[in-house]
Amino acid sequence: MDLVKVEVLFDRETLKKKVAEMGKQISQDYKGRDLLVVGILKGAFVFMADLIREMEVPVELDFMDVSSYGISTSSSGEVRIVKDLEYSIKDRDVLIVEDIVDTGLTLKYICEILRNRNPRSLKIACLLDKPSRRKTDIHPDYVGYTIPDKFVVGYGLDYAEQYRHYPAVCVLKPAVYEN
Ligand code: 5GP
Ligand code: MG
Ligand code: MG
Repeated sequence: MDLVKVEVLFDRETLKKKVAEMGKQISQDYKGRDLLVVGILKGAFVFMADLIREMEVPVELDFMDVSSYGISTSSSGEVRIVKDLEYSIKDRDVLIVEDIVDTGLTLKYICEILRNRNPRSLKIACLLDKPSRRKTDIHPDYVGYTIPDKFVVGYGLDYAEQYRHYPAVCVLKPAVYEN
């Protein structure tokens, strides 16, 4: 990791413990049911990969990709589906897995679309939550960490497609994007 550009917020071991706790809670809540986990690409893929390996209920996976940000660090408010789900979610217990909820615009859009497909239940798990920036009434059901309004990268999260492979969640130093 390039520590000139980033500052570690949650290291690998800290994340591992947190994700294990979340997996345990989710497994308890869905006991006796089959879960369809929907990962929102690309940011959620590292968190999702770790989270599903902590699950003790039968799990199937699907993915959705929406675009909202381009390469900037704040929301444009415009969201469109880039890749839709492969499978029907009708009558399924669906858990959306997202990296971070910021304004909530992306999840609001996704939830509206998925609710119209009549799942049995629809919940949201996110690793990070920035409630101070919320512009919608989205409330994630499972949250790893609530964080202040700082732009973070690593553990799947990018800036201009960089840093996704960093094992820690890091704050990107503003100097990287302010010029
Ligand atoms: P929202 O629609 O809630 O404003 O933003 C949702 C998406 O914006 C997230 O899934 C994530 O891809 C991106 N995003 C929001 N905040 C951050 C951040 O601090 N770092 C990174 N890398 N992406 C963010
Ligand atoms: Mg995302
Ligand atoms: Mg991004």
